[in-house]
Amino acid sequence: MPAQFDLHCHSTISDGLLSPPELVAYAANRGVKVLALTDHDDMSGLQAARKAALKHDIKFINGVEISVTWKRRTLHIVGLKVDENNLALKTALNAVRTGRDERAQEMGLDLAKAGIHGAYEGAKALAQESIITRTHFARFLVENGHAKDTKSVFKKYLVKGKPGFKEHEWMNLETAVGLIKASGGIPVIAHPGRYDLGTINMLLLMHEFRSLGGAAIEVVTGSHTPPQYQQFAKMAHRFSLKSSLGSDYHGSGISYMEMGCIPDLPVGCVPVWDDWPEANFLI
Ligand code: AMP
Ligand code: MN
Ligand code: MN
Ligand code: MN
Repeated sequence: MPAQFDLHCHSTISDGLLSPPELVAYAANRGVKVLALTDHDDMSGLQAARKAALKHDIKFINGVEISVTWKRRTLHIVGLKVDENNLALKTALNAVRTGRDERAQEMGLDLAKAGIHGAYEGAKALAQESIITRTHFARFLVENGHAKDTKSVFKKYLVKGKPGFKEHEWMNLETAVGLIKASGGIPVIAHPGRYDLGTINMLLLMHEFRSLGGAAIEVVTGSHTPPQYQQFAKMAHRFSLKSSLGSDYHGSGISYMEMGCIPDLPVGCVPVWDDWPEANFLI
C-alpha cells in the first residue's frame, strides 16, 4: 500500500504546475491523507492550500523548502509546521527571493553568451507572479527546442560547468534551521541522496544539522532509489534523527515520482509525524 503521507511537493507559488488548491484536490484524489505544501523559499500558498484541504478529506501541514548554501554547495532544508506569519522567517525568505531574481538575470546573460537570447524574459513569463527558478529556465529551453525534455535540459544547461549556471549564495544552514525552529517548525534535510558530498561531508552535515537542532531527514523521496531508502534510514538511526517522506511532486510528467504512490518508510524508522495529532487516524 502506498504511503498516506506526502510531506514535500510544489505548487505554482514556486515551480510546480498546479495551483495550491488544485494540488490539494489532486493529492486527495490520489489517496494522500496528510499533505504538506513545501514551495521553494515562499509560504504564500499555504493559506489557500489549507482552505482547500477543509473541502477534501485531507489534513494539511504548513511547509517550505529553503535554499541553503553549505560548504559552497546548495542544499534544501524543508521546514514542516512553520508559522507563515512569523516575521523573521517571512523577511528572510523575502531576501532569498530578491537574490533569486538577480541570479536569474545573470543566468540569462550567461545563456545569451552561449547564443540563447531572451531566456530571462522567457523564464520570467513562465514563472508569472511566482519566484523564478531553474525549472522555469528549463521549461523555456525545452519549449524553444534547445533540449528534448526536462531531464536532458539539466544535463546540457543550468548545472555546474554548463551555460546558464551561476554560483549563488543562499541562506546559511544555521540561519535556516534557526528560523524554522523559531517559527515553531520542524527542520528536515530534503533529499540527502541528491547531494554530491562524499562520505565525510555527508556525515559532517548530519552531525552539524543535529547539533543545530535539526530534527529529521527525508528517507523516502521521489529522487531516492530503494537502496537509498535503506541507506538514509540507517543514517537517520545513527544520528537520532526522525524520518520524513514526500514525493517532491512538481506536476505530472516533470516529477521524479507521481503523487500517491510513494512507498512507506522502511521498518524501524521513527516517522517525523510520530507525535503529531494529524497522524492519530493511524492508531
Ligand atoms: P533552483 O532552486 O532555481 O536552483 O531550481 C532548482 C529546481 O530545479 C529543483 O527544485 C528542481 O525542481 C529542478 N531541478 C534541478 N535539477 C534537476 C534535474 N536534474 N532534473 C529535473 N529537475 C531539476
Ligand atoms: Mn523545484
Ligand atoms: Mn529540493
Ligand atoms: Mn522540492
